[in-house]
Amino acid sequence: MTHAPVTTIYMHDHPVDILRLELAQPRLQGNKFYKLKYNIERFKQENCDTLLTFGGVFSNHIHATATACYDHGIRGVAVLRGEDDPFNPTLKFIRSMGMETIFVSRELYRQRNNSDFLHHFSIDANKIYVLPEGGTNEFAVRGCSEILGDLADKYDRIFCAVGTGGTLCGLICSPGLSATVTGISSLKADKDSLTPYIRQLCGDAGNKTQWDINFQYHFGGYAKYNDTLMAFVEQFEHKYNIKPDPVYTAKVFYAVNDMISNKSISASERILILHTGGLQGWDGWHYRFHHPKKQSHA
Ligand SMILES: *Cc1c(COP(=O)(O)O)cnc(C)c1O
Repeated sequence: MTHAPVTTIYMHDHPVDILRLELAQPRLQGNKFYKLKYNIERFKQENCDTLLTFGGVFSNHIHATATACYDHGIRGVAVLRGEDDPFNPTLKFIRSMGMETIFVSRELYRQRNNSDFLHHFSIDANKIYVLPEGGTNEFAVRGCSEILGDLADKYDRIFCAVGTGGTLCGLICSPGLSATVTGISSLKADKDSLTPYIRQLCGDAGNKTQWDINFQYHFGGYAKYNDTLMAFVEQFEHKYNIKPDPVYTAKVFYAVNDMISNKSISASERILILHTGGLQGWDGWHYRFHHPKKQSHA
């Protein structure tokens, strides 16, 4: 099986391979292509007429789902946490893809996984396919288990970003995997619920594979950052000509660089990092914070 291009960079003289999923699919960038692949297939098998999903107003998942729906001629509906804003670049984009939007308060959004949640709205559809927040479910995991292909047995340690954890699960479930998989949480996750959730989603593979989630590099939480992280991103891009996204991969590259420098990654380990894409996030980032160096947590 073919995989995305791999670029080798040197962090403190340690060779590190980057799997460039951000380059692989121009329209459906990064991990989202894999997360959506079997969900779209399932949608068609089940003869659904509407795909409904959830997310924040700058979400990469919503952006990717809108693209996939457009490309497959599927009606897409996004239930969004927060308020409408005609200048928000992500919202502008998903509307240009024909996605319908429903805006809900944070309180109501929290109930999204309740069975009667959709009763709050009147959606004119015969059969709705519900894709959870972040697009993570068993079909997403199956898709992500195809990311590595023949790279699965070539590394000692593989790193990826963790949002909802579907991508991490996919890596853990990769056929022929010999590496330890480490997820870098990009949010201040609840450790006690995320780890069992991942274990459950991975089934058997979760016990066979060595894996862990590192919660030390979230920089204050989801989409939070500070000057140190932004300076790192600037340097990283300049030095390697690889652009991280601001929400997920920036923190993974930072983490691996830090772990090499403090020797929690040993000199002999063969390392692969997934660049999971998300570059559309910069548009929302600049829109929200105007300047990349401005503090987000005021
Ligand atoms: C969505 C996303 C993630 C998170 O993936 P999960 O499967 O939800 O953990 C990581 N990186 C990028 C760039 C993303 O867009």
